[in-house]
Amino acid sequence: MPDLWLPGAERHPLGDTAPTDTQYAPRVIWHITWDKNASAKKPADLVPFDQLVRYFTGGGSSCAPHLLWDPFTGRTAQFYPANSRSKSVVDSAGGTRTNRTGRVCLQVETLFFPYCRVNGRSYAAVRDTPAKGLDKIIAWARSWGVPDAWPMGSPTWSANRSERIWEARGGHYAHGQVPENEHNDPGPMPKWPSSGHASKPAPPFPGRSAFGPGKSNASILLLGQQLVRRGFGKHYRVGPSRDWGEADRLNVADFQRAQGWSGSDADGFAGPQTWARLFG
Ligand SMILES: [Zn+2]
Repeated sequence: MPDLWLPGAERHPLGDTAPTDTQYAPRVIWHITWDKNASAKKPADLVPFDQLVRYFTGGGSSCAPHLLWDPFTGRTAQFYPANSRSKSVVDSAGGTRTNRTGRVCLQVETLFFPYCRVNGRSYAAVRDTPAKGLDKIIAWARSWGVPDAWPMGSPTWSANRSERIWEARGGHYAHGQVPENEHNDPGPMPKWPSSGHASKPAPPFPGRSAFGPGKSNASILLLGQQLVRRGFGKHYRVGPSRDWGEADRLNVADFQRAQGWSGSDADGFAGPQTWARLFG
C-alpha cells in the first residue's frame, strides 16, 4: 500500500477516521484557507502556519482537511491518513457523499488568500507562489492512483459543478467544482510538476512474457504507473504494484480500446504497439 502519511509532513492525527466510498476513482480536492479578505491595493500579511495547525486540531477540527500546505516554505501538516475521509467540503444529506468520494479523497488546504503578503511581495493566486513542496504532494497523490488531470478543467475563480463528472472521473478538483458546495476556491493553481518519467525517453519494451498472471517485476509497476498517469487507472483499488493482477489487465484493455483496437488487440496484455502508444 502507498504511504498513508505524506513523507515529511508533520503529523497531527485527529483520530475520528472513517472510510471512503472506494468504488469511485481516486481524487484530490484543493482549497485555500482564505483567512483574510485583502486586495491589490490593500494586501495583508499571510497568517502563521502554526495558527492554522492550532485551528484544525482545535475549534476547526470539524472542517479539517488531510493536509495543510504552505506554498511559500513547503511545510505540510497532516490530520487524517490517506485512506480516511476528511471534512473540508460541505456534504448535504442525500446525493453524493462529497468528503468520501473515491478510493482516496485527499483534501489539501493551501495556506493562502488573494493578495497575501510574504516578504514584502503580494500574491494574487496560488499559481503565482513558489509552490514549494508541490512536487511531493503530487507524487503522493500519484502513488494513490490519482491521475494528473482536472476533470472539470483547471480551476478559475468561477465555480462550476457537475455531479455526473464528479462521480465518473478521478483526478484533481477545486473546492469550487465539488457538488453541494458554494465556495469558489482555490482559484488558479500552478502547473503540476512533471513526474520525472515524462521527460525521459520511452523505456524499452520488456517483451510479452513480462506480463500475465503470476508475474512480478519492475515493468509491471512501470506499466501501471504510466496507465495511471495517462488516466487509465480506474481498476486499481490501491496504486499499481510489481505484481500482475486483473486490474492491470482491465486497465490495459481500456487503454487499448481507447486506441480504437478490438478483439485480441484489446485483450489487456501489453504488446510492443501498446507499450509504444502508452509511453509515446
Ligand atoms: Zn475550500
